Amino acid sequence: MSILSGNCLCNKVSYSCNAEPSAIFNCHCKDCRKATGSVFGTNLFFSENNVEINGKLSSFKHISDSGSTMTKLFCPCCGSLMFGKNSSKKNVISIRAGTVDQINKIKPTINIFMDSKVPSTIIDKKLKQINRMPKT
Ligand SMILES: [Zn+2]
Ligand SMILES: [Zn+2]
Repeated sequence: MSILSGNCLCNKVSYSCNAEPSAIFNCHCKDCRKATGSVFGTNLFFSENNVEINGKLSSFKHISDSGSTMTKLFCPCCGSLMFGKNSSKKNVISIRAGTVDQINKIKPTINIFMDSKVPSTIIDKKLKQINRMPKT
């Protein structure tokens, strides 16, 4: 049963998830800013086997400052960034919150990489804050 679904701007890539996200982060790191074109990225994390993806994706790999290989997956047609993978987190996929249909389910609990946030970005003081990456 699909709990969560989403698609890219042109609708050639879509997905459905049959579980709730294990975590939702707002990430203010420079990589997320550049990749999303926005002042921060919001990611929902899932076990990869709970997410079914339809459509073809393009990918881009880069190395994070902790040395992990990060893979960005995006629609080759419209360029919407959809998913991310981190070589140090096996079987985990992140979904970019802007692609999610069920917008009421997007409830971040933490702001990470606060040390690189854009100064004008307003932060919900009720949420946890951490300067870099949480240790998991
Ligand atoms: Zn698309
Ligand atoms: Zn980030």
